[in-house]
Order: sequence, then structure tokens, then C-alpha cells
Amino acid sequence: MTLVATDEDHLVHARHWVNGSTDSSAPGGVRPVIDPSTGMATGDFPVADSDVVDRAVRAAAAAAPGWWALGWEERGRLLLEAADRIAAAASDLAALESREMGKPVAMAREDIEGSIEVVRDSARAAESFFTADRAAGGLRRHPYGVAALITPWNYPICQVTDFLGSILAAGNTVVVKPSEKAPLAVAALGPLLECLPPGVVSIVLGDGTAGAALVEHPLVGLVHFTGSVATGRKVGASAGARLVPCFLELGGKDALVVDRDVDVTAAAEIAAEGGWVNTGQLCTSVERVYVHTDVAEEFLFELTRRAADWRVGAGSDPESRMGPLVDAAQRDHVHRQVSQARLAGADVIVGGEPLPGPGFFYPPTVVVGAPDDSSLMTEETFGPVIAVRVVESFEEGVRLANTGAYGLTAAALTNDPDHIEIAAGLDAGAVTINGGGDGPQDAPFEPARDSGLGRVRFGPGALDSFTRPYVVSIGGSV
Ligand code: NAD
Repeated sequence: MTLVATDEDHLVHARHWVNGSTDSSAPGGVRPVIDPSTGMATGDFPVADSDVVDRAVRAAAAAAPGWWALGWEERGRLLLEAADRIAAAASDLAALESREMGKPVAMAREDIEGSIEVVRDSARAAESFFTADRAAGGLRRHPYGVAALITPWNYPICQVTDFLGSILAAGNTVVVKPSEKAPLAVAALGPLLECLPPGVVSIVLGDGTAGAALVEHPLVGLVHFTGSVATGRKVGASAGARLVPCFLELGGKDALVVDRDVDVTAAAEIAAEGGWVNTGQLCTSVERVYVHTDVAEEFLFELTRRAADWRVGAGSDPESRMGPLVDAAQRDHVHRQVSQARLAGADVIVGGEPLPGPGFFYPPTVVVGAPDDSSLMTEETFGPVIAVRVVESFEEGVRLANTGAYGLTAAALTNDPDHIEIAAGLDAGAVTINGGGDGPQDAPFEPARDSGLGRVRFGPGALDSFTRPYVVSIGGSV
């Protein structure tokens, strides 16, 4: 199967996927997709308007009763088949992701393969999920009908597949709206999902106008949105006005607190990986580090020398560990925060200047001593910048980590049992103590403060969120 249409210049021409067929309607025109490693066009996509969205939602609504009636077993079988088809195309999808948002191909492939397992896990979990409820007496489950799944550009495929499996296994149908910055790989999923009944999954390409039309559509019964706080507020308001359940997974300014009794080399490694992976374009990226004064010097030395291990280069270059930022606007945003911190007296001890083009490259960067109220310490950076603040005590680090608008995830490193208990009180959706990652993948969590709304997690854990429980009481003899 040809995954995508290309022309003699190897540009990728993406299409919508509506009701089981490709659709090239472009009422909003055709827009280029820029490869951030080169600054050149790598493809294009048709921009949907509310009519295209309406067609996709109506197809999803028409398919919904039949999809639910299939039962969890047949839905699971079809989902596993879909997962196999996506897995067979993982290399091509990874190459597309790399072209449209710059990440190294090998990393993209690894992420996609991990997320395909999430689809499989969700398909397999449906049996125990639905049968356990039956066993529990009067509690039953019903899908919400048509789900809207609106995604950002930083992990194009995973942001879809992490939720697709559980949305569908739960018995909903779905209309996906990927980011206009990186729609190519997600568009390529459409034909791979041909094994599902038409209308069960549609993919509509476009910008915020298409996203808004999807959330506002009267036949959409569930909204799942991942993106920025600013857009999340609009999506939440729109879904709220219609009394439709809405899950918002938004931005972060995640903190790592480093105690004085830890292995400093390991701490620096955790900070570097957490801050620089995916060029820092990760909602759970380590953006702030509060390090105890007793180990600050050694920590900064270890962290700074690791910057040399993060080779910056084009996503297509197998030697690259870090790709570019997604576009010029993102690079300028990152550099503005660093420059403002520098003007306010912070030390930029490594990196801190955009790299020469073409492409939108920014080096791994460490900044120390930015004021607590600077944009670098309070606003999401979404770039490869680790802002380090030296603190007099572990408690002070935890207190500062709990400040600000964001509470997506937080982490701490300490060997002191009393401090482990203090760290457990970090105010975030997921707290990691003495380890990497952001906790068990299927455990439900609710982001704190402005980082989101709704108790959801990807994979099997989300089956609960994506079904509506109801109770049936059957009386005894009358
Ligand atoms: P964004 O908010 O600009 O866009 C996200 C999606 O929303 C895109 O598909 C966009 O077209 C769509 N959209 C825009 N306006 C809309 C509207 N009015 N109604 C409906 N949809 C609309 O975010 P982005 O720049 O694509 O992604 C980066 C952000 O995503 C960062 O803040 C990052 O932290 C966040 N993010 C969060 C998580 C998480 O799990 N919490 C994961 C990844 C990214």
C-alpha cells in the first residue's frame, strides 16, 4: 500500500480521511508543511472548513450504533488488526514525523512502536473492563457516541494512538483533528485504518477553525484535547456550553527538585534527558531544576558537560540526538525567554544562542539564576532549556516547585525518608520520586492548576473515562 501521495519533488500531499475514503476538499485552501530541519516545504494539506468537519462527524455518528453493537470482542479484534497495520508502517510514519516536526527518525519510530502497544493493550483490556462491570451488578457502561480528538504537533502519531485505542475499544467512534504544523503522519493513518468500518475513524486536516467547528458540532458527545492552555480554555468553554464531557491535557512547567544527598551524576543525567529529549518539546519536559546549594556546583558541572552528548542536527541524520524546534516562531519564543532572563541577571552557562540555519535549531541550554518571576521560570518554554535555581533547603525547592500556573508533572531526587514524604506532596498530576518517567502509564491522573482538566490517562486506564457509567436496577417479583 502507498502510504502517502508524493510528487516528483517528493512533496507529500496529505488528504482528509472521511467515512473510509480519502478526501481532498480544500475549502480553506492548501497549506504547506515546512520541514524544520531545512526550512523548506516538505508537503501540503487541504484545510477543512465546518462543512468537511460536518461530513466527518455525521459519518462518525452514523457508524456509532453499529460499532457499539459489535461488542468488545469484535471491536478488540479489529483494533488489533489496525494496530498490526500501523506497526507495519511504523518506519514510514516515523520518517514523515521527522520531516514535518524535526525529531530524529529512530526516536520517532521508538515512540510510535511504544504507542502501538498502547492501542493493543486497550483492545485487550476491554474484556475485563466490560465484564467486570456486569459482574458488579447494576452498573453498566455506554459510549459517548462521537468523540473529537484534537492533537498537538510534538508527538504527532502518539498523541492520536495513545487515545484512539481506548476511545474505540470503549465503543465510541472518533473524528481526529491533528495540528496544522504536523498533519502528514496522522493523515497517513487514514488508509491504514481501512480495516475498521467506514466512519468509525475520520481524520480532518485544518487549523483552529476546523478544531473549533469539531468541538461545537452538536453530534459530538465527548472531547479530548491536548494542546496549549490558551486553546484548552476555548475548547473547555465550548464543550461546557454544550454540557459535553471534555478532557484537557495542557501545558507544563515541570520542576525537578534535587536534594543534597543524591548521586549528583545520576541527577544530572535525569535532568539532561528530561530537559532535552525531543528538543524540550514535551509537555512533561524538565524545565525548572531546584538544586540544593551543597551540590549545586557539582550538579551544574555534570549537567553542562552533558550538553556535548546531545548532537544537534537534522531529524533525518542518524547521528542527531536532538532535532530542530518545530518552527521559527517556536525558536524565537524560546530565545526570547533566555534573552530576557540574561538581561535580568541570569547566567547562561551553556547554549543560549540560536544555531545558524537553514532550519530552526537551538542548542541544549542551561541557565542559572533567572529571577523567580521571569518568563523563563513561570511560562512554558517548550524548548531545550533547563533553568536551574539554587535553593538553601529541599523544602524550599518543593515550595518553589509548587508555585506558578502549571501542575502537570513534578519530580524529586532525595534519599532522606522525611523528604520523600515532603516530595510526595508536590502539587502535580503525576509525581516521580527517585526515577525517570511520569508514572504508570495507565494510572488515571488529573493535572493540577492550569495544566488540564479531567481524570484521564492513555491506554486501558482511559476506558473508564471514555464510557458513561449508568445503573440499572431490576426489581424483584411484583
Ligand atoms: P495548540 O493549543 O496551539 O494546538 C493544539 C490543537 O488545537 C491543534 O490541532 C490546533 O489546530 C487546535 N486548535 C487551535 N485552536 C482551536 C480551537 N479554538 N478549538 C479547537 N481546536 C483548536 O497547541 P500546540 O502548539 O499544537 O501544542 C503545544 C502545546 O501542547 C504545549 O502547550 C504543550 O505543553 C501541550 N501538550 C500537552 C500535553 C499533555 O499531555 N498535557 C502533551 C503534548 C503537548
